[in-house]
Amino acid sequence: MRSLFKAIITILLGVTVGFAKPTIYILATGGTIAGSGSGELDTAYTSGTVTVDKLIAAVPEINKIATIKGEQISNIGSQEMNNEVWLKLAKRVNELLAKDADGVVITHGTDTMEETAYFLNLTVKSDKPIVMVGAMRNSSSLSADGPLNLFNAVNVAIDKQSKGKGVVVVMNDEIHAAREVTKTHTSGVDTFKSPNSGKIGTVFYGKVKYYMTPTRKHTKTSDFNIANIKELPKVDIIYNHSNDNPIFVNAAVKDGTKGIINAGMGNGNPYPSVLEALGDAVKGGVVVVRDSRVGSGETTMDGEVDDKKYGFLTSDNLNVQKARVLLMVALATTDDKEKIQEYFLTH
Ligand code: ASP
Repeated sequence: MRSLFKAIITILLGVTVGFAKPTIYILATGGTIAGSGSGELDTAYTSGTVTVDKLIAAVPEINKIATIKGEQISNIGSQEMNNEVWLKLAKRVNELLAKDADGVVITHGTDTMEETAYFLNLTVKSDKPIVMVGAMRNSSSLSADGPLNLFNAVNVAIDKQSKGKGVVVVMNDEIHAAREVTKTHTSGVDTFKSPNSGKIGTVFYGKVKYYMTPTRKHTKTSDFNIANIKELPKVDIIYNHSNDNPIFVNAAVKDGTKGIINAGMGNGNPYPSVLEALGDAVKGGVVVVRDSRVGSGETTMDGEVDDKKYGFLTSDNLNVQKARVLLMVALATTDDKEKIQEYFLTH
C-alpha cells in the first residue's frame, strides 16, 4: 500500500515537473528595442528609454510558454557598451544559469551586439541557451520588429536544441552563432549575417529549426574563466587604407595599448610605413594581430606579409571587432604569444 502511494506521488511529481514552464531570465541592456521616438514615422529616436518590464509587457505571449523574470543590467545605446557592463553581464549570466534559469535572453542594441555575443560566448560557463536579441526599429515606430524578435528569442531559449550551441543572436527570423554573426546594414531589418558560414537556424513565429552547430570552442569548452578576469586590457583597432601613414599605430603605442588589431587591406596587408610601425610596436611588447578590413575570409598567416619576421599573429577569419574581443580576453589570461595564436585558431 505504501509503495503504491509512493509510486503515485512519483508519477504525479514527474508529470508536474514535465509540464512545468521553463524559467527564462530577460536581461535588458538597452538599444533600439528599448528605444522610442515621438511618432510612428519619426526617424529620430533615443535608445534605451523603455524598461525591461515594459519590454516584457509588450509581448504577453511569452508568459504562456515560460516563467519570465526580468532584470535591468543597463539602459544604454550599445554604441556606449563598455568593459564594465560586459563583466557585469557575464557574471550575472553565469550566476543565473548556475541556479534556476533554464535559459537567458539578453536584449541589446544592434550596433555592438556581435561583440557582446562573442564576449559572452568566450566567458559564460554553461551549455544552457543564451540568446541575444534586439531591433532595428524602435518601439514607437510603425512595424516595430522588437516584439516578434523577443517572442522568437524566448522560443529559441526554451528550445532543447539550443543547448550547447553557445551564445546565439536571434533577429529577423534567423538564428546566428555568436562567433560568426555581424551587422551588415545600417538600417535594414535583415542586417545580421554570418558571412563565413551562414545562419545556423531559423525561427518563424516561434517555430525553431536548426541546420548547423558551431564547432569552435565556446562557453563550457572555452579556455577562458571569467572568475579570473577582473579587468580587460586596452586593445585598439587600426583601420588601414591607401596612401596610409603610421600616426594611429604610433599614437596607440604611446597611449599604452597592450594589443593592436590591424584592419589591413585585402588579405590583411598594411601600407609599408604602417607595416614598419606595427613591427616596432611588437618590438616594444605590443601584441599585434593582423586582420582584414574586408569582413570575411581568413587572414592568411605568412601570405604577402612575413608574420614570423615581424612577430605578428593572425586572426583566422574573425572580423576586427571580434578579434579585438578575443585579444582582450586572451591578454587578460596570458602573455604567451603562441598560446594567444592558438586561441585564435580554436575559439
Ligand atoms: N544605436 C542602437 C544601439 O546599438 C541601434 C540599435 O539598437 O539597433 O543601441
